[in-house]
Order: sequence, then C-alpha cells, then structure tokens
Amino acid sequence: MWAHVGQPFAPARYDVLIVGAGRMGAALARFLRAARPDLSLLLAEEGGLPNEEGATILAPGVWHADVPPERREEAERTRVLLGDALTPCGLLDLQGQAGPATRPVSEVLGPDLLGWIDAGVLPHVRLDGRAGVYSAGQLTLGHAQTAIREGADLMLNVRAELHGHELNGHALDRPGSGGAARVALHRLSVTNTHQVVVDHTVNVTVARVVIAAGAPGPALAEAGLGIVTPHRAAYRQTPRLEVPSTSGTPVLRAEGLTLRPQSGGFTVVPPVPHPDPWGYVPTGGRLVGVPVGLRRETLDAVMRAMPGLSVLAGEGLVVGRSIADIPGAWLAVPAGDWPTWERLDDTHWLLLGGERADLTGLAVAEQLAQALAAT
Ligand code: ADP
Repeated sequence: MWAHVGQPFAPARYDVLIVGAGRMGAALARFLRAARPDLSLLLAEEGGLPNEEGATILAPGVWHADVPPERREEAERTRVLLGDALTPCGLLDLQGQAGPATRPVSEVLGPDLLGWIDAGVLPHVRLDGRAGVYSAGQLTLGHAQTAIREGADLMLNVRAELHGHELNGHALDRPGSGGAARVALHRLSVTNTHQVVVDHTVNVTVARVVIAAGAPGPALAEAGLGIVTPHRAAYRQTPRLEVPSTSGTPVLRAEGLTLRPQSGGFTVVPPVPHPDPWGYVPTGGRLVGVPVGLRRETLDAVMRAMPGLSVLAGEGLVVGRSIADIPGAWLAVPAGDWPTWERLDDTHWLLLGGERADLTGLAVAEQLAQALAAT
C-alpha cells in the first residue's frame, strides 16, 4: 500500500488497474481478487479511502425492494452481498392515492411520525419490511481492506491519467490492437498553502484498466481515450433534517424525497433532477436576499414535498447559508439511471454506480469482476 509520495513506488506492470476506490471500484477489487487471485491488481485512488469528495461517503445507503422487474435479480443479489452490513429498519412509502399494498397511515404510523405528515395529503402508506440502511463508506473501506488482505495493491493520493494513443509523444498500442495500456499515475501532495500539486508521475503498463472514477469517469474516458459515452454527471445536495431519529426509525419516502435516519436526525435525499452540463461548478446564490448554497432544484424538490411532509416546513430543515454548509456530491449519472458497466475498447472498461448504486451497485461490480475474470 502506498499512501503518500514519500513511499517509493517501483512496480511497472499490472494485469489490472482499477481507477477509483469508491464503492464501485473497491467492491470490484474485492470480487476480482476472489475470482482471479492470479491477476496482479492495483487500486489507484485520487484521495483517501473513501474519498471525502466522492459520491460514496455521502451515499444515502438505503436498500429497498421497490425496483422494476428487470432490476429485481440485481437488487436481490446486492442485498445478499450487503449481508450483515445492512441494518433492517423498514421503509414507509407515503402516498396520496391508495395502491395494491397500501394501508391507511393512521394504522401504520405511530403518533410521532403521524405528527410529521399531513394525513389529508398523504393518507396511504406502503410498508417495505425488507428495506434497510448501511454505511456505504464503511462497506467500501471493508471491501478495499479485504482486497488488500487478499493480495491487491492500493495507491492513495494518486490521479490516474489515461492514454489511448500516445504518451509523451511515443506511440502506444492503439485501442483495438489487443495490446496493453499505459497509464500515468500522478502522485499528489499538498503544499503548505493547501494546494494539491503533482509531486511526480510514474507510468505503469496494464493489460486491463477499469475506470471506476465515479462522476469524472466518462470525462476521463473521453479526454484520455477519445471515447464518448452517453453518461453524465450531476451535483446532488442532501440537506439535513434535525428532528429526532433512532437506529430503529424507518426510512420515509414521499413525493420523490427519501428521508434517511442518520446521526440522530435525517438526511434528506432529493432525486437527481437532470445531468449537469460539462464544466458546471456549483456556486452559492441568494434566496430572499440571504446567501445560500442551495441549488434551485433541491429547493424545488423540498418545497414540492412540504404539503405532505409537513415536518419539512418546520424549524428542523437545515439548508445552510453558504455552499460549504450544504453537503453535496458529484454523482455519476449512467444513461438508464442504473449502475452499469461497459467495455470501451480492448483494454478499458467503465464502471458506474450513480444515484441507484445503493440498490444494485454491488451486483453490477460483481458482474464486471466475472466478465474480467473470463478475459
Ligand atoms: P462510485 O459510486 O462510482 O464508486 P465515488 O465518487 O464514490 O463513485 O468513487 C469514485 C472515486 O474515484 C473517488 O473516490 C475519486 O476520488 C476517484 N477518482 C476520480 N478520478 C480519479 C482519477 N483520475 N484517478 C484516481 N482516482 C480517481
């Protein structure tokens, strides 16, 4: 394991390089190690484990069974792979209309929860008794540790740069030639003015590269390999709701919002409205004259839910006063919205988690491990 630039790095060749040790990359490393212990494997991560800026650390970590039929198998497999990490707590899906499995809210919700909603707007509830919560960060750490114990190498604070055709003016094996890829690993360090700089660069030759870099993954493929994919990135914010929750409090879902019990309160998880344009960088704005770091779509999603989830209209909602107050995360937005992997050329694969990684991400990482094991 190489954690910082002071540790000299000598290896020049790997069978497999995984770029990004978020939840998808770490799970892939673990599954691949188990399937093919004969392949040398390097997991390269730009930050720490898990990266404070990655999607993993802010993932809601909610598994539930409400997935379309074509995703059911992957969701069930993910639940098996989550194993003991999943704490069952149930999910209450509050609805305006009666459906096949709904019951009146007054029969299901205790007085505390009933006080948080307007039963006139959301009179029905469907209970998902198999739903549960977990910490995506802990799980990722565990997967990376297992992979390392099983013989994988890990390099932190290193930014991988892909090269499809040439590196420093030298022609390389072209994608499609069946050859190996050369990857530049920029080892990062921090100056005493807190700037992240490249200390030095090492090049490795790799037979297979998996881009598991989260939101920047598609751009990495495009810039380095010239391969354009339909996938994008989006900036999601997850405001906090400071009303009491315990470890047994169920997850609440209503009007497109998920309220995940966490650290004695709730994390409010809005849907991802749309992919953001390339180069979009969130900046704080002003709302009724007060500086806020809340993006418009997050505000819209919360306000849409207020009539039914009246607790959101109380004093517990913390939307912050500046961009730094609002937790946010860049998410991969896979075309089709579900975790996915694809082969980009003879040597490169792309693995994306995204908004629904909680539900099927582990099964998709396992599928890619099996596909790589067979190559
Ligand atoms: P996912 O859910 O897909 O795993 P994350 O954002 O949690 O998404 O993980 C992606 C990881 O990839 C992050 O930890 C990020 O620091 C890392 N990463 C992104 N770009 C690079 C890069 N060029 N080199 C190395 N690591 C990268």
